Amino acid sequence: EPVLQALDLVKRYRRPGGGRTAALDGVSFALRRGSTLGIVGESGSGKSTAADVVLGFTEPDAGEVLLDGLAWSTAPERERRARRNRIQSISQDPLGSFDPRADVRSILSEALEAIGVPRCERRDRAVELLERVDLGAEHLARNPLELSGGGQRQRVAISRALATDPEVLVCDEAVSALDVSIQAQVLDLLAELQRSTGISLLFISHDLGVIRHVADEVLVMRRGRVVEAGRTQAVFEHP
Ligand code: ADP
Ligand code: ADP
Repeated sequence: EPVLQALDLVKRYRRPGGGRTAALDGVSFALRRGSTLGIVGESGSGKSTAADVVLGFTEPDAGEVLLDGLAWSTAPERERRARRNRIQSISQDPLGSFDPRADVRSILSEALEAIGVPRCERRDRAVELLERVDLGAEHLARNPLELSGGGQRQRVAISRALATDPEVLVCDEAVSALDVSIQAQVLDLLAELQRSTGISLLFISHDLGVIRHVADEVLVMRRGRVVEAGRTQAVFEHP
């Protein structure tokens, strides 16, 4: 059974001038446990909307997201809250998701507090989380603005996402803003985390080269629809 499934998702937005845009027009996919599913497509093809529906940030007009075979939309609120810890995300701009006044220690402590880790254990757990992204304890006292723009900020965002021990990590253009060499480091880190934890990745990017490198399976989107899907090698063999 796939860890995550999207079944026939539909999401329409009203256009300013009237009429409606189908950001998602019947999108289905399955993420196999421990694997990476890449979603690729031009800007405006519906990738981020798909990610937001999976994360529960956007309610679809129709369709369903299943986690471990269980429907998300019909689950009771309590269950929905618990599930949010099981699907985490990182985005293009980690800085935008951090409280600018918080240091790394409090960013990680807050995530640990949210899942009920007692105060006295939070520092050690925060250090462990940093170790998993190859950052030392000396980074605890830093403000996100004092971290290197590409690599270190995204590493802290990844470590915060790992705090709840999620089964799925949604990466929405997570390396798109990074220099190529730093991009490669972050991709290597994600691959290493996948090997060690078995985490499943939903990896969204407009960059074919990146998708080709990371994805086991690929979904190509255009205007809210899936126009191609399959094993990465097979999809990219097409002329
Ligand atoms: P992508 O991530 O592939 O760039 P998006 O999912 O962001 O695509 O957008 C898909 C379509 O839905 C686009 O036409 C976009 O303008 C529209 N759209 C996305 N979010 C909204 C919104 N909150 N309000 C109105 N239209 C939106
Ligand atoms: P609705 O208001 O129809 O429930 P929303 O798109 O506001 O649709 O939210 C869908 C679900 O996702 C809700 O349960 C909401 O609490 C949750 N949600 C929305 N935004 C966030 C967010 N930023 N972080 C966590 N959960 C969110």
